[in-house]
Amino acid sequence: MSKTDKNQVPLLDLQAQYRSIKKEIDEVLSRVVESQYFILSPEVSALEKEISEYTDVSYAAGVASGTDAIILALKAAGIGPGDKVITTPFTFFATAESISVLGATPVFVDIEPGSFNINPDLIEELLRTSNIEDRKSIKAIIPVHLYGQCANMERIMDIAQKYGLKVIEDCAQAIGATRKGRKAGSFGTAGCLSFFPSKNLGGFGDGGMVVSADEAFIARVKRLRVHGSKEQYVHEEIGYNSRLDSLQAAILRVKLRKLDSWLDGRRVVAKRYDEALDGLPLRTPKVDDGNAHTYHQYTITTDKRDELMKCLNDKGIGARVYYPIPMHLQPCYKGMGYKAGSFPVSEDVSKKALSLPVYPELTGDKIEYIIDTVRGFFR
Ligand SMILES: *Cc1c(COP(=O)(O)O)cnc(C)c1O
Repeated sequence: MSKTDKNQVPLLDLQAQYRSIKKEIDEVLSRVVESQYFILSPEVSALEKEISEYTDVSYAAGVASGTDAIILALKAAGIGPGDKVITTPFTFFATAESISVLGATPVFVDIEPGSFNINPDLIEELLRTSNIEDRKSIKAIIPVHLYGQCANMERIMDIAQKYGLKVIEDCAQAIGATRKGRKAGSFGTAGCLSFFPSKNLGGFGDGGMVVSADEAFIARVKRLRVHGSKEQYVHEEIGYNSRLDSLQAAILRVKLRKLDSWLDGRRVVAKRYDEALDGLPLRTPKVDDGNAHTYHQYTITTDKRDELMKCLNDKGIGARVYYPIPMHLQPCYKGMGYKAGSFPVSEDVSKKALSLPVYPELTGDKIEYIIDTVRGFFR
């Protein structure tokens, strides 16, 4: 490999992935184009069945994006104006936004420093100490399985049961992740997947899916995605236009067959980083007991985050920050009464987190180049 090759290591290399499956993808693309059946075709139903098998959840509904999956799942769970939904401030904006677009209010609870996922002790404390009025308006919890490892779902489900709350899992980054052998998306009322191109299972555009063990719940999501109608031109409720298209479904069906081997490939890269970065003044990702991490991101924390990122970027390495501004400090949530210091762990991690390139095709010289560059920075 030439020097210029290894000096360009993107955060994710989707072209390499496409090259490895080009023949199969090109075949299904032409199959769908020949059929001229583009919306909610048998491809979509087939993908729904395959994803429900993959996630060990009985029913699934394809929708237009991961964001819509959360919105439609919240709506199907009965969330609306005046309701409150507990979630993490350390996530991609779509999690909190989905709550807000329904007229409900996100109630943030800080994360655990190890896993970066929502802290169940703090959820419990919030519910225990809130007044009756507030507690009554809290209707659901959205745990986010951040970077590809499950939140503490045993504790979260116990708390939800105790307080009568729905649980909508944001699995956008965590398809295939398991906790004590159970798949992400199989714990709560529903699980929400994203097929955004850069996710571990990504399409050639936007896409998403809701999975649930509750048949009636998925029937409602399927109604909501087509303008609130079950029968054409009969609208039982106000819905959305949020459908998964056949081209995406056909592509995703090809990729789903490779997913487990790709997740294994990510774990190999993560293991190499874990070993090679040990002993440096940074913290490598902590995997919670019982979790099989899927490394959507390999995220380290270090006090020298900004300097390290600049050094890596200058040397052609696509390291990036997920996420620099916690939700409670977003301009659009200014009026909510949160301030700097409200969620110290999230704020601290937002200043220290740095995601390194991780994907199955990241092998040999390229990963060693990244490791050498990180080591060189701290020397
Ligand atoms: C990507 C993502 C979403 C949104 O998914 P889209 O398909 O981009 O709408 C929601 N939550 C989290 C945690 C995500 O990473």
